[in-house]
Amino acid sequence: VSHNDHAVIVVGGGIGGLGTALALARSGVPVHLLERAPEFSEVGAGIQMGPNAIRALDHLGVLDSIYETAVFPQRGVISDATTGERLTTIDFQAPMIARFGYPYVVLHRNDVLTTLLEACRAHPLVTLENDREVDEVIDEGDRMRIVCKNGVELTAGLVVGADGINSRVRRLVTNDEPVFSGHIAYRGAMPIELVPSAADVDEVQLWVGPGLHLIQYPVRRGELYNQVAVFESRRYAEGRDDWGTPDELVEAFAGTCEAVRAVIPRQAEERAYPNYDKDPIDSFVANRAVLIGDAAHPMLQYLGQGACQALEDGLVLAAVLGGDPDDVASLGEYDALRVPRTTKCQRVARPWGKSWHTGDEAFKGFRDRYFRGRASDDFSEVAWLYEDVFQSLGERMAGVQVGGNR
Ligand SMILES: Cc1cc2nc3c(=O)[nH]c(=O)nc-3n(C[C@H](O)[C@H](O)[C@H](O)COP(=O)(O)OP(=O)(O)OC[C@H]3O[C@@H](n4cnc5c(N)ncnc54)[C@H](O)[C@@H]3O)c2cc1C
Repeated sequence: VSHNDHAVIVVGGGIGGLGTALALARSGVPVHLLERAPEFSEVGAGIQMGPNAIRALDHLGVLDSIYETAVFPQRGVISDATTGERLTTIDFQAPMIARFGYPYVVLHRNDVLTTLLEACRAHPLVTLENDREVDEVIDEGDRMRIVCKNGVELTAGLVVGADGINSRVRRLVTNDEPVFSGHIAYRGAMPIELVPSAADVDEVQLWVGPGLHLIQYPVRRGELYNQVAVFESRRYAEGRDDWGTPDELVEAFAGTCEAVRAVIPRQAEERAYPNYDKDPIDSFVANRAVLIGDAAHPMLQYLGQGACQALEDGLVLAAVLGGDPDDVASLGEYDALRVPRTTKCQRVARPWGKSWHTGDEAFKGFRDRYFRGRASDDFSEVAWLYEDVFQSLGERMAGVQVGGNR
């Protein structure tokens, strides 16, 4: 065995890759992780984590560290971005904890990444390498050969593709391309003092209107305020080149109520992210390669589940392997557990976004009447996302030190 041969190589050190490396290490498997960037880092914006992600972080043994910077909003509020009417609220604390065992939490992305990174660095079975961009992964039967951009080659008994929506590892499974939604997100977190409307730090605000929405919530112990303004680009639909620009953002939000419109000029200074997903696929496995996170099932952000599902992926992978990374037969079980669930996320996220952005008066009438009538502790629409997917793995989750070392 040369020093370039590893039991497991994880390609990509985002939230999914670091979470998976940690899960595997905690199950007794040595892991080597390759990240193309010179440093581990995340987008300078917030992230929402449903109870299923918090449960996963608990299984990874990092909940205390996560809770040090997290914000625990009392509720989510959905309002009409045009009229300002509060349509409905959803409880994020006591009723959610009573039902799912964990709260709904909002965080800064870098705080999540830092927690996972520190846990990986502290674990004797994890080694991390930056400046390693994987160019190609070659299936050699009983080994996988990884060719990096600078010519370095490594081999592994198992390759985990955690390299995001433009995954190289995914090419072993399919050569599909990202699908552009035509939606653009301007997002970023700023000091909370700069946001006059941020008085109520107990709420995650979602404002919905025709072809647009705005999300607002505090992060990092309430020191920063995260805002995400999303619109469906008309210019893109018309085939123009100047789509997604700050002035199109301002134009798109021109008809919104004062509370929404007021934050848009500042938001236009943030970075723009065009939103892509992919169509679901039947398998995340090719011999000794397996995909997790956005490499496996990139989805639109409307369910707030992309990273949550990535964390679940890593833990389920570790549990089915049961400490033996050579047990490639068990990857079939990984597929069986993860493909249907994440396919549903991908499929539901698209119309979920459409329901926020509807300009159809009839549909909007039904939607709003439903919103106004529902109780704040009615979790009917999201229960399937927040339920415990680890339960079916029973004893095998214990091998990943369930809730251990807290
Ligand atoms: C606007 C928006 C809002 C969102 N909100 C939420 C939310 O509230 N909650 C939620 O759960 N999810 C949310 N998501 C989705 C979430 O951000 C992603 O699903 C998640 O970050 C995916 O993590 P990942 O680790 O799989 O991939 P990535 O974060 O993309 O990480 C991939 C890593 O691999 C590295 N890499 C790529 N290619 C190579 C290579 N060839 N060699 C080596 N390294 C490589 C990259 O540098 C990167 O570090 C949102 C997404 C968007 C766009």
